[in-house]
Amino acid sequence: MTDAEAPVSPDEVAHAETRLDVPFTVVNLVTTILSCVLPFWFSSASAVTAFVVFYTVTGLGLTLGYHRLFAHRAFRVPLWLERTIAVCGYLAIQRGPLFWVAMHRMHHRHTDIPGRDPHTPQEGWLHVHFGWMQRRRADVWTRELYHRWVPDLRTDPFYRWLDSESRDYLAYVGLLLASWTVGGLVGAAGHPSLRFDLRNAWCFLVWVGLLNRVAVLHAFGLINSVCHTYGSRPYRTHGADTSVNNAWVAALIFGEGWHNNHHAFPRSARQGLRWYQWDPAWYAIVLLRTLGLARQVHVPSEDERQRRSADAAPVPAPASGHTARDH
Ligand SMILES: [Zn+2]
Ligand SMILES: [Zn+2]
Repeated sequence: MTDAEAPVSPDEVAHAETRLDVPFTVVNLVTTILSCVLPFWFSSASAVTAFVVFYTVTGLGLTLGYHRLFAHRAFRVPLWLERTIAVCGYLAIQRGPLFWVAMHRMHHRHTDIPGRDPHTPQEGWLHVHFGWMQRRRADVWTRELYHRWVPDLRTDPFYRWLDSESRDYLAYVGLLLASWTVGGLVGAAGHPSLRFDLRNAWCFLVWVGLLNRVAVLHAFGLINSVCHTYGSRPYRTHGADTSVNNAWVAALIFGEGWHNNHHAFPRSARQGLRWYQWDPAWYAIVLLRTLGLARQVHVPSEDERQRRSADAAPVPAPASGHTARDH
């Protein structure tokens, strides 16, 4: 399914009803504070290296996987690889693909309309950064409602299995334990005695278990906030859409900062549309295509880009007054 086929009937959106998710709020606040403090006390070369590797795995799992592959179907891969990419994204602990993709399709359909877009800076910076996941509208937390946005994914038993908040907490605890254990074993490998390295275990827990999730969460918060506020708009977009390109955010999170490009061409697997626009998720897709693993890779033609350019003459509105969306 494309975003254009997603449901939009107003009765599906209960604007007034919201719920404060207390456990999720506590976890986010506590882990964010700990992640700002503990890396100064618990640090090792192997933990920092593991953080860079895990940030890449989970960051690409979300940018290349959840976003470009699942939400926009910008390319296709074999099922075994699709599942592997889904697991990489899931390890960022930002919920399973069903919830994530549903929220993202909702964002594209109702971009920057307060009360409709799940995350827009029009409702404040705390809200857009991650408050929208804590103080949730009914259509953001009711499974029966958000599942309507993902008919192409909700039939998959594996993705349905991943769509469980209680399982997310278990996965997070498992991730913390695993990072602690791997850190101790990695440290042991560097000692002649091969004794479990307790200090390195805590360094891994801090950098890989705690800091990685917080870093990826805030990086995506920056896409939703900064990339709808500060930057350039080389392409025209529809309605209230305020998406902008921001090179700093693109550098932080695998090319996702070329957000105006993305909102203008949502189905494009490539978001850095110019050669100088750093887009590592696109380079990874090119690698997969070269290896014969990615197919049906969508990229807008030069002609399509010219027509959507901010300098081009506006396209006349349809006679019916209906707002056309190409995604
Ligand atoms: Zn956006
Ligand atoms: Zn998108």
